[in-house]
Amino acid sequence: MHRILVVEDTPAYAEALERTLTLEGHEVILASRAQEALARARAEPPDLVVLDLGLPDRDGYHVLRELRARGVECPVMILSARSLESDKVEGFRLGADDYVTKPFGALELLARISALLRRARGSGSAATGVIPVGAMRPLADTELRERYGLTERQIAVARLMAEGCTNAEMAARIGLSFFTVRNHAEQVMAKLSVGNRAAVAALLMEPVANPEKRTASRGTATRPGGA
Ligand code: CA
Repeated sequence: MHRILVVEDTPAYAEALERTLTLEGHEVILASRAQEALARARAEPPDLVVLDLGLPDRDGYHVLRELRARGVECPVMILSARSLESDKVEGFRLGADDYVTKPFGALELLARISALLRRARGSGSAATGVIPVGAMRPLADTELRERYGLTERQIAVARLMAEGCTNAEMAARIGLSFFTVRNHAEQVMAKLSVGNRAAVAALLMEPVANPEKRTASRGTATRPGGA
């Protein structure tokens, strides 16, 4: 069982999330305003936060920024109707671990939440308070392969895309034709589920959750449900 803080001001969504997560065996704490969310997070440190962006007092980014500034390192999943690339990038930049757009499917949401909790567990437990805020690390090739199913070529292309290279520059640097590189670039964006190149960079990094080196989670072989 995990304690999940759900920050959501629309009652219908809040109730649906509470029901779904409770059925899954989690303890759910609800907050409908940013200030309330920060107070609840302080009083009862959550294992994961599901965070709406549009809140009555301050927006969800404020909550995320505050949590990270306090050294709270638990996974944060943004759950928002805002589907703009720029919103997602801002969310990841501030230290979100996942971004799901509304309307959402309950099963996908649960699968993503357990993945985040599994990863958090693998990285040693949260909130030591001594982690440099906003520290990011690049994902290793293995992680990119496992997380997004990228091939070796696509990883090379993705890293160059993150540097801001054009197709022509990538073609020159990798030694492939322009068209092959363009195909790889399209596949990278499809596998990362992003609509433009600017968003690639954000997904190749992740917030450092622990000052010690993360141990890759691949050792723990069992996957519930065989997803
Ligand atoms: Ca809202």
